[in-house]
Amino acid sequence: MESKCIDVGILGATGMVGQQFILQLANHPWFRPVWFAASERSEGKAYGDAATWHLSTQMPDEIRVARVEACTPGRGPQLIFSALDANAAKEIEPAFAKAGHLVISNARSYRMDPLVPLLIPEINDDHLALLPAQRRARGWPGAIVTNPNCSTVVLSMALAPLRQFGLRSVMVTTLQAVSGAGYPGVASLDIIGNVVPHISGEEEKMESETQKILGALQGDAVSPHPVTVSAQATRVPVIDGHTESISIALDSSPSIADVVAALRGFRGRPQELGLPSAPAAPVVCVDALDRPQPRLDAERDGGMTITVGRVRPCPVLDVKFVALGHNTIRGAAGAAVLNAELMRAEGLLQGD
Ligand code: NAP
Repeated sequence: MESKCIDVGILGATGMVGQQFILQLANHPWFRPVWFAASERSEGKAYGDAATWHLSTQMPDEIRVARVEACTPGRGPQLIFSALDANAAKEIEPAFAKAGHLVISNARSYRMDPLVPLLIPEINDDHLALLPAQRRARGWPGAIVTNPNCSTVVLSMALAPLRQFGLRSVMVTTLQAVSGAGYPGVASLDIIGNVVPHISGEEEKMESETQKILGALQGDAVSPHPVTVSAQATRVPVIDGHTESISIALDSSPSIADVVAALRGFRGRPQELGLPSAPAAPVVCVDALDRPQPRLDAERDGGMTITVGRVRPCPVLDVKFVALGHNTIRGAAGAAVLNAELMRAEGLLQGD
């Protein structure tokens, strides 16, 4: 579609997700990262000196020498991606929206705000219709759009194709990668050879965010989906990729073949529009009994696909399976870039 490249900025550019933004945006056909901001610790330094690079793909040379700025509203481009720590995001993101920026955020701070879209473009692209009401209510020329918690993305993408069978209740146990905790994250003595059965706030986020994402837009509000979600979150010694063991109770009684066909057939607006970061199939259902595995499946389709395997009957609920997604790509930076691509394709970026 459009050939013009739009300048974009990144708040929290030096962190784990910020670095993934830099890779997702390097050579992007529509967006060009030109402005990088972080905390006072990094402000004024060259990016290469401020950030401890954690990714196996090398830091792009032009980014290494870019100056890290303060998070000052009004300074960067109109379109801003945010990978800020949630405490910082609480103050900084509304200040940017007030100054006229469109903030596409990863932070939890505004995900459950009734006027803020909690977007997964394959599932609820219509929730972008909340933006005029958000701008009116807050008096902002800009806006905030969020993407979900990294575990919630995996769960919601696996549940969305099954809405047709009547989602009643869900039990989910996560096995989450250490990169999900940012850097330096979990101490090595806590995680090597170990499983930690608690991630602060994670279970509550999965339980509430899923209902909002799958919910129906009614006027200027999202009516949450009635599905009950019970989540148990664990941290495991894996670098990237959140695995989830999911059991679901359904209103109807589809066969396992029907469930697999629904997962495999799932497509959304990004696939219809052919967005640059959209995988051909957002959910890939594999037959091998020992998949998905983080090391083998997290990077599928550039990390934008959710891989599902071991679909089988559940003797307690109705159906169970294992789902996996890349937490800093589909669960964070890649998700936000897809949100911005959707907004551009739908003509929702100002001044484009
Ligand atoms: P991180 O590695 O700790 O990075 C945090 C970033 O925020 C850094 O750039 C840091 O800058 C900046 N920052 C911290 N305090 C600040 C302040 N007071 N003012 C301005 N900038 C400040 O965290 P992360 O894992 O990248 O996560 C970033 C956000 O994405 C969080 O809200 C997190 O919950 C969310 N998220 C993370 C994941 C994941 O898988 N990691 C997935 C989904 C969502 P300095 O380097 O200068 O300190």
